[in-house]
Amino acid sequence: MNTVGHLINGRIINDAARLQDVYNPSTGEVSKQVALAAKTTVEQAIAAAEAAFPEWRNTPPIKRARIMFRFKELLEQNAERIAQMIGEEHGKIAHDALGELQRGIENVEYACGAPELLKGEHSKNVGPNIDSWSEFQPLGVVAGITPFNFPAMVPLWMFPMAIVCGNCFVLKPSERDPSSTLFIAQLLQEAGLPDGVMNVVNGDKEAVDTLLGDPRVQAVSFVGSTPIAEYIYKTANANGKRCQALGGAKNHAIVMPDADMDNAVNQLLGAAFGSSGERCMALSVAVAVGDAAADTLIEKMQAAMQSLKVGAYSDKSNDFGPVITKAHQQKVVGYIDSAEAQGATIVVDGRNPQVAGHENGFFVGGTLIDRVSPDMLSYKEEIFGPVLQVVRVDSMQAAMDLIDAHEYGNGTCIFTRDGEAARYFSDNIKVGMVGINVPLPVPVAYHSFGGWKRSLFGDLHAYGPDAVRFYTKRKTVTQRWPSAGVRESVSFSMPTMK
Ligand code: NAD
Repeated sequence: MNTVGHLINGRIINDAARLQDVYNPSTGEVSKQVALAAKTTVEQAIAAAEAAFPEWRNTPPIKRARIMFRFKELLEQNAERIAQMIGEEHGKIAHDALGELQRGIENVEYACGAPELLKGEHSKNVGPNIDSWSEFQPLGVVAGITPFNFPAMVPLWMFPMAIVCGNCFVLKPSERDPSSTLFIAQLLQEAGLPDGVMNVVNGDKEAVDTLLGDPRVQAVSFVGSTPIAEYIYKTANANGKRCQALGGAKNHAIVMPDADMDNAVNQLLGAAFGSSGERCMALSVAVAVGDAAADTLIEKMQAAMQSLKVGAYSDKSNDFGPVITKAHQQKVVGYIDSAEAQGATIVVDGRNPQVAGHENGFFVGGTLIDRVSPDMLSYKEEIFGPVLQVVRVDSMQAAMDLIDAHEYGNGTCIFTRDGEAARYFSDNIKVGMVGINVPLPVPVAYHSFGGWKRSLFGDLHAYGPDAVRFYTKRKTVTQRWPSAGVRESVSFSMPTMK
């Protein structure tokens, strides 16, 4: 059976001490195994990154950017192969996997602008014959820890920007679908990156804790569930590291009575059920304002869901595939059971989907639940499955209060034709990424991505302009070159330009 290893100092290494099964979620079968790095293997990767840093730090940004240009081409040339790897281990249908990869490539395109992004700031004559400038210096060795649901895109949020800023990187991808991530790192190597600048260690808590505890690691970017994000943030901070830790979500869409309901239904279908709801920006709650809007929404959703196609990743006509593991399938079904037990109405029940020829796959069908209330477990927690819950409220303010009271604040959306209502909503809602008639308001690569409340621990968001700040230290230099023979007089007061 194939084993997925690590990429350390430009070479693939198999650390076979501990192995974990990797599944094909469409069939339920084990397809390969992944090596779980021991502490010493992770230390090897950190040492390789540290050794590569002095030369990489001094490589001109334009040369670093050229490698990113070649990397982008290689990603595009290998897109189908990467999508296939994602499908085999994550279960995503090819159209969705290619979309994730494209969003990742856009981060590489942004990284190609490094010479412009790293130019710094300059002020002439801040005093007599005195000039001052701020420059952005790389941190050294930085680490990334990523989740299973975007094995291509989320790593690409991190390492292209970190590396183009002059850092060396150690990535710990999800152990559940590791192949595409490792292959992407090999493509970066093929693009001409010097050995040791980019390293991948597969593994579990042991690998993560080694990265968090090692004083050579200067900063950590994390994306995953909130309990782990909080642990990573606190531990990294306690160890003196810079950290950004992006966590889980519960994204609400307000459906106003004046919304174009057919459009809202189409948008909700893709945003709730695409990728089996395993997206941190998935819309999992529709808050209908008024019973008339709720009744129309339910009726139209129910009709539209009759044609939803769940099935194996290999059939491109499917809308979405399985969830990641058997345990997760049971967890999602458990949330639907609990909503029913707590009094909600299951309008479309996806608990027992029939996928011919794939009876052992980890499938959950599209599920629609009406009359959900905020005290229900299925409302409070992130389900991360193809389940859309409808909460009924009687005013837009009540809908906003509900959203603001939730522990997560990643994304949200309003469906309306009323510009004033939309403006009030976007201005006041306590959520980091807001859509107005846009169901998945995932910022493009030249903005930054991040939620509020317990969806993000740290100050700087992921990718875009914030990534330049996160992956660099500002240094401000003030310089004077007095003319020959000019002596400055002694002064004990604070220098000013008064
Ligand atoms: P996860 O938290 O289980 O795992 C994320 C990473 O942390 C993995 O690399 C994993 O190996 C590691 N990890 C897991 N348990 C650990 C532990 N006890 N100690 C140290 N490391 C540990 O998340 P997941 O199930 O892979 O991904 C789904 C979650 O990620 C969802 O909650 C989703 O909302 C979230 N997510 C958030 C964003 C965002 O941008 N906010 C994006 C994608 C996914």
